[in-house]
Amino acid sequence: MATEEPTVLIIGAGTFGASAAYHLSKQYKDASRITLLDRWDTTSPLESKHAAAIDTNRIIRTDYASHLYCNLANEALHFWFWNMAVQGHFRKTGWVVLDKPEGGFGDAVRKTDVKVEELEKWDVMKGVRAEKFNGAYFNPEAGWCDAEKATRSFTKVALDLGVQRVTGVVEELLLKRGGTGVDGVRLSDRRVLSAEKIVLATGAWTSALMAPVEDMLGLREDERVERQITAVGRVSAYYALDERETQAMIDGGQPVIVVGGEVDIIRPSQLNRTLKVNDLSTEVVNTVTTPSGHCVTAPSRRNQNDVPERLKRESEKVISAAMPDWTKSRTPSRWRICYDAVTPSEDFLMCQYPHPQLANLYLAVGGSFHSYKFLPVAGAYMCNVLNGKSNGEEKDEAWGWKSGEWLEKCKGKGKEFGNSKRKRGRREFGKFEEGASAKL
Ligand SMILES: Cc1cc2nc3c(=O)[nH]c(=O)nc-3n(C[C@H](O)[C@H](O)[C@H](O)COP(=O)(O)OP(=O)(O)OC[C@H]3O[C@@H](n4cnc5c(N)ncnc54)[C@H](O)[C@@H]3O)c2cc1C
Repeated sequence: MATEEPTVLIIGAGTFGASAAYHLSKQYKDASRITLLDRWDTTSPLESKHAAAIDTNRIIRTDYASHLYCNLANEALHFWFWNMAVQGHFRKTGWVVLDKPEGGFGDAVRKTDVKVEELEKWDVMKGVRAEKFNGAYFNPEAGWCDAEKATRSFTKVALDLGVQRVTGVVEELLLKRGGTGVDGVRLSDRRVLSAEKIVLATGAWTSALMAPVEDMLGLREDERVERQITAVGRVSAYYALDERETQAMIDGGQPVIVVGGEVDIIRPSQLNRTLKVNDLSTEVVNTVTTPSGHCVTAPSRRNQNDVPERLKRESEKVISAAMPDWTKSRTPSRWRICYDAVTPSEDFLMCQYPHPQLANLYLAVGGSFHSYKFLPVAGAYMCNVLNGKSNGEEKDEAWGWKSGEWLEKCKGKGKEFGNSKRKRGRREFGKFEEGASAKL
């Protein structure tokens, strides 16, 4: 009799979870042995799905200073253009990147020089001070995608092939009695799910979820997942536009615009009529202490759409400095603080948990604010990790569990954003809240 394919439970249906489910479902003869679990139902409204993979949009581009991610983004771009599951959600608008003098990002990936002064042809760039920048470049192959619809239709392929979708909140990982490994999970409604392999694709929530097990196993600070990833929040402002303004931006060929280190400006579609601005300069963390006295970072329990007023004011300063004229007479119609798991080197973390008692536990996290674009491909590499196959020396090293020495060496050398000022200036979310303190 043929040996049965191992059962797999993927916790988290965001970028890494959806991608792993998609690729595993293509490999499995019986995809019903795979379960994809998340706290939100696929049919819930966009605002209630607190995942970094779910938003009005995410930028898709291939420009990277790192060859590894440049190649991987080119691999993913093929899907964004040609794969039925996601292609309809991608808008090829191109993107313009304005480089700060100290930035250097553009120097590494520069394709087409653009004069900063010429960018004033788009209203959102009126009043921008050209002398603040070291130039700009344009790449027509980039764009943005509807990150809610694309995640949903990519996941649908896996579900149609037989993957089970469960809605529920994982409260606890259950260790095998007297053995090694994780038996399954207990949900907040007391249901228990078991599987032979368990994948944590829980993004910014990973460290908080692991903390009780790590406490139970008495792991040292340097053996914990918190050493590998930090849960970091960033603020986005959404400006509702009327039909005329929307059409003018589309007809004017306004691309995605990145004002180096300050903001991303993502143009509206006729459907969403929303100009989205990501604040790239303000980052917050929510540090909580576990019962054993360890500190972990976790997204605040506060609703992501309820951004504290003080944080909005802070972000408004950044946005109006970057878009001085356009923002004068406008206020955002909504705000969001969205969390991602950030690794010190900005590489993914796709590996087996190294502790022998957690041998069947795998991690697929570490989006580091740049990984949505890899939705179509990241899972293929995660399948190799689950099957015990190498992804090649470079990727195995980049995506593996990092030693203390490795982490020390890469301090301040993030592959995507380098040693940016915002990383050094991360503040506690609680400081912006009205009289509240951090909660796990
Ligand atoms: C503001 C912002 C802007 C970004 N812009 C871009 C961009 O333009 N381009 C780009 O490529 N990338 C971008 N990114 C990065 C990208 O969105 C993330 O790197 C990526 O989505 C991370 O994927 P993930 O699967 O690790 O986490 P997520 O997508 O957050 O998924 C984690 C999932 O786990 C679930 N979960 C967690 N804990 C539990 C639990 N206990 N029980 C049940 N479910 C649980 C959550 O509900 C969530 O759905 C951006 C990120 C942010 C925050």
